[in-house]
Order: sequence, then C-alpha cells, then structure tokens
Amino acid sequence: MKILVINAGSSSLKFQLIDMENESVIAKGLVERIGTVDPTTDLTYEWEGQKIKQKQLKKCDTHAKAMEIVLDVLVGKDRTDAEYDANDGKAHLTGTGVIGDLKEIGAVGHRVLHGGEKFTASCLIDDACIAAIEENIPLGPLHNPANLMGIRACQEVLPDVPQVAVFDTAFHQTMPPKAFRYAIPNEYYTDLHIRKYGFHGTSHRYIAARTQELLNLPKGNKVIICHLGNGSSLSACIDGKCVDTSMGITPLDGLVMGTRCGTLDPAVVEFICNRKNMTPTEVLNMMNKKSGLLGLAGDSDMRNVCARYDAGEPNAILAIEMWGYVLRKYIGSFAAAMGGVDALIFTAGIGENDAAGRARAVEGLEFLGIKLDPEKNAAARGKETKISADDSRVQVWVIPTNEELAIARDTLELATK
Ligand code: AMP
Repeated sequence: MKILVINAGSSSLKFQLIDMENESVIAKGLVERIGTVDPTTDLTYEWEGQKIKQKQLKKCDTHAKAMEIVLDVLVGKDRTDAEYDANDGKAHLTGTGVIGDLKEIGAVGHRVLHGGEKFTASCLIDDACIAAIEENIPLGPLHNPANLMGIRACQEVLPDVPQVAVFDTAFHQTMPPKAFRYAIPNEYYTDLHIRKYGFHGTSHRYIAARTQELLNLPKGNKVIICHLGNGSSLSACIDGKCVDTSMGITPLDGLVMGTRCGTLDPAVVEFICNRKNMTPTEVLNMMNKKSGLLGLAGDSDMRNVCARYDAGEPNAILAIEMWGYVLRKYIGSFAAAMGGVDALIFTAGIGENDAAGRARAVEGLEFLGIKLDPEKNAAARGKETKISADDSRVQVWVIPTNEELAIARDTLELATK
C-alpha cells in the first residue's frame, strides 16, 4: 500500500508518499506560503533519483488548494506559474508523476501536535477524533487548527481514503503523575489540564522501539533519548515506555534550542512585561522565536554557531557552553530519576550529525558510566552507529529518526485493521 504522510502547518503543508511494501519514500515535498499575504505560493518537491524541483505558483488561499496541488504533482499534472490559475484550478499534464491514479493512495497519515490526555495512541480519523483535536486547540493553539486544515483538505480531495491522526504527545502519556504534574494547586490540573505533555513523541517512540530492536538490553532497561534538532527534547524510557520528558505543556520547556529558551523561572515573564511594557504573549513569542542559540549567538543554526565558536566569538562560545551544560544536567537528572541508565541515544539534525555536540553532551559524565569512543563518534553521521567505548557501561548510539515512517506505519496498521 502507498501511504501519503501529511504535516500541515499554519501556512505550509509537507508531504511524503511512502511505499509500504519496502518502506521506501516515493516522493516528498512542501507547499509554503499558503493563505499568507505573499503574492505567490512555493512548491518544492523531489522523488527518488530526481533533482529537487522548485516552483512559484500563483497564490494558494487554502490548504485544500495546496492538497490539490500536491495530488496533481503526484499524478504528473505539473502546474507551472504560467499555467496555474487559482480560479479555474486546472492543471496540465506536462510532467511525469509517481503514481498513475489517485486510487493508488491507500491511506493518509497526519501529524497532529496535541492529543491532550485523550490520545495515548494514533487513531483513525472520524467525527469524534476531529472533535477531540478541536477540544485540544487551547493546548496547541497554533498547530492543532493547522493540522485540522490538513485533515479537512484531505477529506475534501480524497473523500474515500481512510485517514489516521498520529499525535506528537501520545508517546509521553505513559508518564506517571509525579513526572507530568506541576506543583501548583490541583484545580489548575483538574479544570484546565495544566500538566506536562511532552512533544516529538513520534520521533521518541520510533527511536525507543528501534533501541529495543538493536541493543539487546535486559528487561527493565533504562534509556535516555536525546532528540537534538532545531527543536530539542529528551525522554527517559524504561523498557521503551516514556517515564519523563523535557518539554512541558508546550514545546518551550527544557533544553536550549534553536530559537527557544528552554527552562527558566516563570517569574521572568511578569518581570519583562513590567519593565519592557510587553504583553505575556509578546514575551512568550520572544522566548519561542527569538531565544535559544538565536538569542544568545544571533543564529539559530547549530552549524553556523559552531563555526563562530571555532572562530572564538564570545557570544557563540557562551551559547554552545550553555547548550551543553543544560543538556548534561537533563541527562544526569533523567539518569537519577530512573535510578540509572543503560543506553543513551542521539537523534535528529544535531544528534545525528554533530560529533562535537555529542561529545559536549556527555563531557564529564564518565561517573555515570558513559564513555565515548572518540574515533567512532567522529565518524558517526546519519547512520545507526554505536559510538561508546568498548569499556563504557552505558551504550551510546546514534540512531537516525524517521517520523514520517513512524506515521506511515501507524497509518497502515489502523487503515487495514
Ligand atoms: P532538525 O530540526 O532535526 O532538522 O535539525 C536541525 C539542526 O541540526 C540545525 O541546528 C542544524 O544546524 C543542525 N545540524 C545539521 N547538520 C549538522 C552538522 N553537521 N553539525 C552541526 N549541526 C548540524
């Protein structure tokens, strides 16, 4: 079966078409600037063995239109700037697609940010599921409405195809209350569902399962997963089940990230509001979008910050030192929370590619039994690799994540049940 994986943002729509016979990616791409004030919409796509193609299309107002564009591209109706007309919506058969007919798409899997406490696993999309995603909009005010737009767009253009929602929060629902509750009065939890939810769950779940397959760990095994990308989070897992995570009610908490500040004293918000005459929303926007590596070093991309670190730039040195310091504190605290650690896994853009970052993450953690093999660490890049020294008590691995495949696997399972 071929499965279309959709990740809809407020003005973007990412897609991947995966052949589940061999779990290979047939095509992938991205529609950007949907419904924005920009005069054009951008389409980027590629498929196996082909170069990345980029097109500027006439403005696309809705996610449903963006879905039509994606489906046209997949069947080989190639809209060009000149041909595309938002009014007649007609596309012309000019390129070669990857499928002959839309009927080849067996199911659609959607990434959905916030499942709240309702969803502990993925679910087949029906009216009740949509209502529950709507109910969780207060918890994911930017993402859940966008995810719903993606779902509705697919229902419009592929009405007979089963659809599945895969939640970013679901994996972390196994956390016990002592880990997910905040120590504020109970009514804030019972009335408003204020608690830690955790994110990147699809990635953590994929890595947790792969770790159990690869590492031959004993029963009761304790694993810390470091998903280190532009957004970063840690999870602590016992026997592959999440018992704690670094993100909170929103993805702002935890590590120093590309643009997010991570953990800080919440009193900072009121202090800044008073002193800078800003609203709480403006302060949170600053903490989400202008902080982290960007706020400290002026660049959110780890590669650029590393280059400046190497050049001896003081702001970059501080940013990199803080990034590593906070990360090490979390690794140590999760090891303490679980009463030990058997394996430490690195994944996502930084975790998979940045040997210096991985070395920094475990610097001084030999007392926990974590010891890298410097050569193996330096060579590991984007491939499943053990990077710990032979005499390291804790196994350390690089395992590339694959969120789209995890979504496609869930979708296949639920759509064919
Ligand atoms: P992701 O959000 O998983 O796509 O990860 C993006 C982050 O990974 C960015 O900060 C990139 O700079 C970082 N990254 C990718 N490759 C490398 C590399 N070779 N060295 C350092 N950071 C990298």
